Amino acid sequence: MSKDDKQNRDKREIVFLGGVEGVQGSCFYLNAGKRDYLIDCGIKQEQPAESPDFSYLNEKNIKIDGVFLTHAHLDHSGGLPYLEADDYLTEEAKIIATNPTKNLVETLLWDSLKIHKMETKNQGLDQSYGQNDIRSILGRFKGVDYGKYQLNNLDIELGSSTHILGSSWIKITLQGTKITFSGDIGGNHRTNHLKELQNPGETDILVLESTYGDQKNQPSFTEAKNKVYKQIKESLNKNEPVLIPCFAIGRSQEILQLIREREHQLPDTTEIVYDGMISKAMSDYHNYATHSYMNEAIMNYKSNSNDLKPFLPDKAYKPNKMEERHRLLDGEKTPLIVAPSGMLEGGWSPYYLIKMTKNYENAKIILTGHQVTGSVGRKLLEAKREDKNKVKVQVTALMPPEEADELNGKGYGFHEKNIKIPTNWVEQVNGFSGHSAANQLLQFTRKTNPKKIYLTHGEPKTKKQFKTFLEKNLNSKIKIPKLNQKTTIKTKENGKTTINPNKIKKLKTKINNLEQKIQKHEKTLQKLQTKNQKQNKKQK
Ligand SMILES: [Zn+2]
Repeated sequence: MSKDDKQNRDKREIVFLGGVEGVQGSCFYLNAGKRDYLIDCGIKQEQPAESPDFSYLNEKNIKIDGVFLTHAHLDHSGGLPYLEADDYLTEEAKIIATNPTKNLVETLLWDSLKIHKMETKNQGLDQSYGQNDIRSILGRFKGVDYGKYQLNNLDIELGSSTHILGSSWIKITLQGTKITFSGDIGGNHRTNHLKELQNPGETDILVLESTYGDQKNQPSFTEAKNKVYKQIKESLNKNEPVLIPCFAIGRSQEILQLIREREHQLPDTTEIVYDGMISKAMSDYHNYATHSYMNEAIMNYKSNSNDLKPFLPDKAYKPNKMEERHRLLDGEKTPLIVAPSGMLEGGWSPYYLIKMTKNYENAKIILTGHQVTGSVGRKLLEAKREDKNKVKVQVTALMPPEEADELNGKGYGFHEKNIKIPTNWVEQVNGFSGHSAANQLLQFTRKTNPKKIYLTHGEPKTKKQFKTFLEKNLNSKIKIPKLNQKTTIKTKENGKTTINPNKIKKLKTKINNLEQKIQKHEKTLQKLQTKNQKQNKKQK
């Protein structure tokens, strides 16, 4: 779409390009008149990962002038390299996000490139994007802190959404109309470290997440932490190693923080280990352990203890060599290991799991996150629920070929191995979710007093239930948008509805035409009158 075409557009609209068919792939297009923006650009983390549906942009030949990111999770940011590779961005397009989001996205995008390479190679497909696209995308980032900004013709505000480090809601004021995109809302039950949920204030349109909209409240976070600690302590006291598979960003820091708080109560011999991407995310958590991003509890702890690493136990370390990892689970030691991924798919957690089953009679695996259908973590939970003694799973882990059952390529690398895990090793602890449930989402929504709400980021059934719940409690119009559904934004300037310039042009043309007609009629009338006068004279 040329710049002139953009200048003359008379409609402002939102189109839902993703995040409307479940909890993944958030992506919303905002036609702001002279400019085009996206709010979030996430992938569906299935196998293989799926980019957002850009067919709408394609059909209308739209180039994006800027992207606003609510937070780093790949279901909100993983589509960015596709956007770059498929040339949907203008040359000057910037990506606006908080500073920590910018750093976390960098870590996640490089990691997702590795997965993308592996997936496409396994399926004999071409890569959709490569290193250069990630480099270009990262070069477009403009990091900001929570606060108010102006970009082109828009007023923008970012505020804490208490979901992960740097997460925010984004409020955009477009010709007087206020639109808030909630992103993922964590809320007050999670203020153990992140800055408290901020209030976006009055809004006309709210695009709201609904992940746990079918639950009134989340289970107690404090109780969940106590449960995890109890499991850890019991196992270590019995000389059984503990593996906590964890998502590298957020959950790992929470788990390691709770271990740090009670570290002195664990057996002296305990080796506390974290591995993989946790280490990079950890340095972001520590660099941004500031008043801008963390709550008072963390800031007070830092100043009272002089400990600049509040998310890390004193004794914790990251193994750097394979021998170190190999030695950790030799059958003699009883380490406490926190490693990604949380579902035992990828990362270091599958490797440690293999070692545990090989060398130990008893051990503990504590699952604290959502386990997607088909994942190794889900299989463990299902077998436990079905009261099976053991469950056989195939895991993919980085290992030497002689230890693998099935080889993916030659040499040292990711290979497959079948293992049997006793189900009494498996424990699940709920209550760590990074999302608010219905009551907290209602509180947040009440503060924004929206005229219209669009429910996104939720399973279809959940959204329906949440809609009914909100309708009982609010007077807002509530809608569940479909994929690529368009919604027109009524704009107002200084409280009045603005008339778009095209309408004025059309009216002027109409008036001109009418004036010409009047002149014509007046001439005809004059002629007739003159004729009439002449006729009258003759008759006289
Ligand atoms: Zn998220």
